[in-house]
Amino acid sequence: MAKEELTKIPEIDLILGINEKNEIVKYINEALSHANKENILQVSGVENQQEFLDFGTVTHTETTRAVIKVQDGCNQFCSYCIIPYARGRIRSRKPQSVLQEIQKISQEGIKEVVITGIHVASYGKDFTEETLAEINQALGQAKQEYYLIDLLEDIQKIQGIERIRLGSLEPTLITEAFTERLVKLNKICDHFHLSLQSGCNATLKRMNRKYTTEQFEKVAQLLRQAFSNVHLTTDIIVGFPGETEEEFETTYDFLKKIQFYKMHVFQYSPRKGTVASTMPNQIEGNIKEERSKKLIQLSNGNQKAYHEVYLGKQVQVLFEEQQDGYIKGHTTNYMVVKIQTQKNLANTIQMVKIVDSNEAELVGELQ
Ligand code: SF4
Repeated sequence: MAKEELTKIPEIDLILGINEKNEIVKYINEALSHANKENILQVSGVENQQEFLDFGTVTHTETTRAVIKVQDGCNQFCSYCIIPYARGRIRSRKPQSVLQEIQKISQEGIKEVVITGIHVASYGKDFTEETLAEINQALGQAKQEYYLIDLLEDIQKIQGIERIRLGSLEPTLITEAFTERLVKLNKICDHFHLSLQSGCNATLKRMNRKYTTEQFEKVAQLLRQAFSNVHLTTDIIVGFPGETEEEFETTYDFLKKIQFYKMHVFQYSPRKGTVASTMPNQIEGNIKEERSKKLIQLSNGNQKAYHEVYLGKQVQVLFEEQQDGYIKGHTTNYMVVKIQTQKNLANTIQMVKIVDSNEAELVGELQ
């Protein structure tokens, strides 16, 4: 986004476009062989990105959960976001590559995969007829289209993988048809992070988000009907340009109604080059701060209330790291559960009875 400005910084020897990431060693070696700054290497910008830049099977560092990126770029142009300019248009990773990576990590003992992308709801929308033919041949299928739900159905078949978690999702992805297919996949975690951003239709419109609060409410209902213990989390921006007290109150009331398990609250900050950064009525910092505090308080209260319901109940936990006589893990719906034990339970799924809770986590006993 700021190639020209970066060039002026004397300490910078090399500027790469996002498409050159996987050849970074080669570029660094080339840059090192250049004698002076005149020869600074500048390569492609976003305009040249057509295909998903596939790193193949990457080295993961976690032992229980692996984050698998399946998509890059975005075509949505929300008015506050620089991503479509910085990362370019949507590109999906071919499913055969995704499945190969997950197969490999499942053999290494990973039990949970998190499927992510910049706009994962767009997965597969860029596959051409030619790419689809290649996919069909690689997977032994005969599909006319291949979207996120198709990918999830194929990941479900991989032995050893016990949980499939979805990263941040656009609410518009969740339709009746999608949910009907999703609920049949027993490895799908009943935790969905739906980026709402605002609970006021006028603000959503200025944000150039492509849904209304009414549509969002239907999405929440659909998921709650399909998954009985589902937890919904979200991102909210406070202090978006022009957000009046009334608009904020509308958002607050909507959030109270939806009762998210947890909300990530962001104070709006302008990004140079976006439409929102030039909008009138930018909001002052202290107002953003105040609104943010109010929503964080609401979120903490929700989380506490959700946790209290689990007292005395049994949950399945995938344990992660052992520390000081305790081990923590996550439930499928993304609650943190901790138990006291000397046993090494890392990377095992155990049944735990909940005996105590606070707003951040649950405390349990092994069953
Ligand atoms: S906020 Fe998300 S959907 Fe909107 S433009 Fe940015 S990446 Fe795309």
